[in-house]
Amino acid sequence: MAARLASEEQMLIDMVRDLAREKIAPRATAVDATGEFPWDIKELLAQQDILAMPFPEAYGGLGSSELTILMVIEELAKVCTTTSLLLCVQQLGALPILLAGADEQKRRWIPRLASGEWLAAFALTEPDSGSDAGAMRTRAVREGDHYVLNGLKHFITNAGVAHVNTVFAVTALDQDVRGISAFVVEDGTPGFHLGKVENKMGIRGSQTGELVFEDCAIPAENLLGHEGEGFKIALATLDRTRPGIAAQAVGIAQGALDFAAQYAKQRVQFGKPIAENQGLQFMLADMDIQTEAARQLVYHVGELMDQGAQDFGRYSAIAKTFASDAAIQVTNDAIQVLGGYGYMKEFPVERMMRDAKVTQIYEGTNQIQRMVIARALLK
Ligand SMILES: Cc1cc2nc3c(=O)[nH]c(=O)nc-3n(C[C@H](O)[C@H](O)[C@H](O)COP(=O)(O)OP(=O)(O)OC[C@H]3O[C@@H](n4cnc5c(N)ncnc54)[C@H](O)[C@@H]3O)c2cc1C
Repeated sequence: MAARLASEEQMLIDMVRDLAREKIAPRATAVDATGEFPWDIKELLAQQDILAMPFPEAYGGLGSSELTILMVIEELAKVCTTTSLLLCVQQLGALPILLAGADEQKRRWIPRLASGEWLAAFALTEPDSGSDAGAMRTRAVREGDHYVLNGLKHFITNAGVAHVNTVFAVTALDQDVRGISAFVVEDGTPGFHLGKVENKMGIRGSQTGELVFEDCAIPAENLLGHEGEGFKIALATLDRTRPGIAAQAVGIAQGALDFAAQYAKQRVQFGKPIAENQGLQFMLADMDIQTEAARQLVYHVGELMDQGAQDFGRYSAIAKTFASDAAIQVTNDAIQVLGGYGYMKEFPVERMMRDAKVTQIYEGTNQIQRMVIARALLK
């Protein structure tokens, strides 16, 4: 892999790997058990400039390549999926500003996201519009130099902890998805508050919840791009961030495989390590095949993005689908390798399986990804 990166990027990956092993891995069990948002880990990522990676240098970021960002997400996810999600969502929530925002808007919000002082959120999903995101009901009505928002977003990562919330709302009822616009709503805006916080199966340290808008007036200059461009901005964002979820899945799978392989060398049954049984070796080999194949798909899409390819959406969907399905398979098998111990919370593989599940769901379910792939294939 090293040949794919410049030497300073490789140094960054090595630094993150050490940081993950020494500072993040020891916190992963407690983050999962308490379900509390890990502010200390967020600070650590901010101090190490990891949250600055997705942002251009002109706005205080590191301007890292997509491939490097994907590799860093992978390293973090090997030990703690919640931690890797901090970087994924910093990019997800801020990308609409980078893609569609004016220079003045970027100057207003990006530097403090790059420094990690602020967190970002991306608010598209509503109770009645998940996969069918275009069916959203949240309204934004122009009144003088303000837009007034009313509605509810749910299942939003970083709800209540993000300062910069990218929110999608309907500005023209008589249009289809071309009536949707994108806005930034800052934390503390009157009429904007956190609703229900979800109790989840995995990524338990990540805060997922509702964002409620009740006559929430925001300055008209918080509109990103033009009215009616919101849906296009959302889809362009997700095309670019899905590889990050795929990288997260690869990291989870690798973390589970490493643990299972190590365990199999030590666990003795019938007078020898269980790793000496060919039946188990084949399981481990299949886990490795799945993980490595997924990794290559992820790196490929990262390289396509770095080369400025326009038509990478299909690869992005393929990588996300394959890697997340692989993560479920590999984490499930890792539990099997550990037998009853794998089922216990004393070992990390059951957490990894719970964390892996969401990678098949968020940023577009794998059924929706297959629709995207088939559409590209059949056009
Ligand atoms: C932990 C977590 C964090 C999230 N974070 C965010 C976030 O930060 N921002 C945000 O906006 N959203 C977020 N989401 C929402 C997520 O993107 C949606 O849950 C997802 O897009 C699916 O929508 P849904 O849950 O409403 O399921 P539904 O759309 O109701 O789908 C239910 C099932 O039907 C299938 N299905 C739907 N339509 C079709 C079809 N046409 N063909 C075949 N199958 C179909 C789906 O694949 C799924 O299996 C998050 C979700 C979770 C679980």
